[in-house]
Amino acid sequence: EEKFKDYPYFGLVLQCYLKSAPQDCERVIQFAKNRKTPITVRLVKGAYWDYEVIKAKENDWEIPVFTQKAESDACFEQCTEIMLHAFPHIFTALGSHNVRNIAYGMSLAEELNIPKECLEIQMLFGMADPFKKAVSDMGYRLREYVPVGEMLPGMAYLVRRLLENTSNEGFLRAKFVGKAEQADLLKNPKLNIKLVEESHKDIFHNESPLDFAEEINRTNVNESFEKIKKKFPIKAHPFVNGQRREGFEFGERYSPNDSSLLVSQAARTTTELADEAVEAAKKVFKSWDGTPVSDRITLVKKLSQKMRDNKFELMAVMMHEVSKTGPEADGDVCEAIDFCEYYAREMERRFSGKEERAHLPGESNEFSYQGKGPALVIAPWNFPLAILCGMTVAPLLAGNPVIMKPADQSSGIATMLFDMMKEVGFPQNVVQYLPGRGHVVGSHLVKHPGIHIINFTGSREVGLGILQDAYTPQAGQTHIKKVVAELGGKNAIVVDDDADLDEAVLGVLKSAFHFQGQKCSALSRVLVHESNYDRFKERIIGALTVMKVGSPADSANKICAVIDKNTQKKHLGVIEDNKDKIIAQVELSDEMIALGTYVPPTIFEETDFKSDLSQVEHFGPLLVLHKVKNIEEGIRELNATDYALTGGIYSRSPKNIATFRAQAEVGNLYVNRTVTGSIVSRQPFGGFKMSGVGAKAGGPDYLLQFLEPRTRSENLMRRGFTPEL
Ligand code: NAD
Repeated sequence: EEKFKDYPYFGLVLQCYLKSAPQDCERVIQFAKNRKTPITVRLVKGAYWDYEVIKAKENDWEIPVFTQKAESDACFEQCTEIMLHAFPHIFTALGSHNVRNIAYGMSLAEELNIPKECLEIQMLFGMADPFKKAVSDMGYRLREYVPVGEMLPGMAYLVRRLLENTSNEGFLRAKFVGKAEQADLLKNPKLNIKLVEESHKDIFHNESPLDFAEEINRTNVNESFEKIKKKFPIKAHPFVNGQRREGFEFGERYSPNDSSLLVSQAARTTTELADEAVEAAKKVFKSWDGTPVSDRITLVKKLSQKMRDNKFELMAVMMHEVSKTGPEADGDVCEAIDFCEYYAREMERRFSGKEERAHLPGESNEFSYQGKGPALVIAPWNFPLAILCGMTVAPLLAGNPVIMKPADQSSGIATMLFDMMKEVGFPQNVVQYLPGRGHVVGSHLVKHPGIHIINFTGSREVGLGILQDAYTPQAGQTHIKKVVAELGGKNAIVVDDDADLDEAVLGVLKSAFHFQGQKCSALSRVLVHESNYDRFKERIIGALTVMKVGSPADSANKICAVIDKNTQKKHLGVIEDNKDKIIAQVELSDEMIALGTYVPPTIFEETDFKSDLSQVEHFGPLLVLHKVKNIEEGIRELNATDYALTGGIYSRSPKNIATFRAQAEVGNLYVNRTVTGSIVSRQPFGGFKMSGVGAKAGGPDYLLQFLEPRTRSENLMRRGFTPEL
């Protein structure tokens, strides 16, 4: 800013363990030159090495930091050189206790005739005092630093620094504990860099999400978000018996972000067309089930590649149609790809061949799998690509033809998925597409005697109805249907008396409010230990009120609009009915509420564990805070719902974590992390009790639900003669 242009006391820190540090130096130098007033740059190696490495590995990104200490030491010297050459635009400060690094800086500064008072050495208060004396005796500026402020965070800081400076690879430990030779300590760090071979284990690699810190990704997302509007409205026509069908009425889907934007139109298909789809599926079943597994896998892999290639477009449709933020939409595409890759891999690995069983002489035994028959997939709108895709490709891989019935609210994205399936070449009638109303075509097909599998994800109410209908045999039905029903949750997190509140507050907010609380895994109850309650409450109120709500067009908005007008009205009603219990809420203007289906994210305080707020799945940006006396009460109340989907604890007590692990009744149990964001293969997902029946999605048993296991046993003995095995 203009008024600070010649302010001489600005400084910033550059971390030399980052591979990008030399380029970062150049950018800072350019900035200082343009500004025409020097700035001080403090070079350090960096204090979050583990975090950087773990985060990169989790996302399958390139690790941004050097993985060998010697490489960071060498980069520190490289950056020192770059910065000293930029004198007097840059004043360099070396934040290090490594004598070799400091000596390198000093001798280079001397060579470049930089005055001693223009190079600063910085060391931590209470550490390596003989070094400090030596440095100041030599006439250099020495700054001792110490954290100032609150006692506990300050202590945590000191402990972290002490750990870092005494780590096995650190200079101080090598000198004072390891008694390393002087020549070794002063050796050029480049000579200590080793060649390391990467080990390639046969593990499943999840699709890598976009790094939104990269400008190119943000630009691509923004451009696609605008460009895609030209293709609206996306028309969801049914595709049955090899043909696109016309002549139906259409339902209209306006964007939750902006109710003037028509995103998609879904055909209101009829039960007659549904019947025709079942007949076509029945006919193709045998040939699809007889298609080599490797061919089915190839098609599914082609589909995942297609989604990869069209990622930005898929994200853009989701951002408009169901109001996902860029990162949430990215997660949805990644998960869809993961489902394809993971199920394909499992199909090949576990279910494709014929398995020989133990046999006795004179007997041959074989065990194998086959498909069951036509499958009906009924999907929700909240993971409009990932869930629909996973629910469809799994029965397909297992040899079953599929009729896809997407949710009405997200038929635009479903149509894109179906079109991609057509493009990659799934044979005619192996996948058919039937957009339309759930209670009309969905309900009709559930009862249809030609359907063998019903793969449903959605609400408890609809799911229980489906289970009842599907298990009632119809005239002409000669089989029992297989029903997979993944339903709702009333998920809770327990916050212990010693929980790390920095982590707990962020984790709770993310779990409860990202995607407007419309994930089945979303958090809706927090059970806080009474001794931490006031502190937690104060901090979560502060943190919520600065969260930004609005269109996903602006990446600052972390919370967008809820799925539709009815839902908005329902949530506003819950807020109104419980207004005395509100302790925090993000304010929304009336214009915003009128523009789209926005609902103010709200936190309530509740003493009654049995209230509707605490027991009913609201599926929106509404969170309830409860005070509990101890961890046992927290777990008891966490369990005291009909559901068992996700649940978590923030605690530092190994004993309490162990109790939680043993007693919390949830399908997905999380410790010191969010309860949302499960990853295919790493955290297979699904619940029990009223949260559903079925094996976990993205887990090793999922495919088994769509397969019919067969056993064959043959007597090989002929008149007393037993051929050799
Ligand atoms: P929903 O039950 O209203 O609709 C789900 C699907 O069922 C839609 O395709 C709909 O058209 C169809 N449908 C509606 N009535 C039907 C009927 N009578 N017969 C047949 N089909 C019918 O659910 P939703 O609003 O789309 O999704 C939100 C719900 O889904 C929440 O309860 C959430 O917890 C749950 N969910 C669960 C999981 C999980 O893995 N457990 C995942 C995502 C969503």
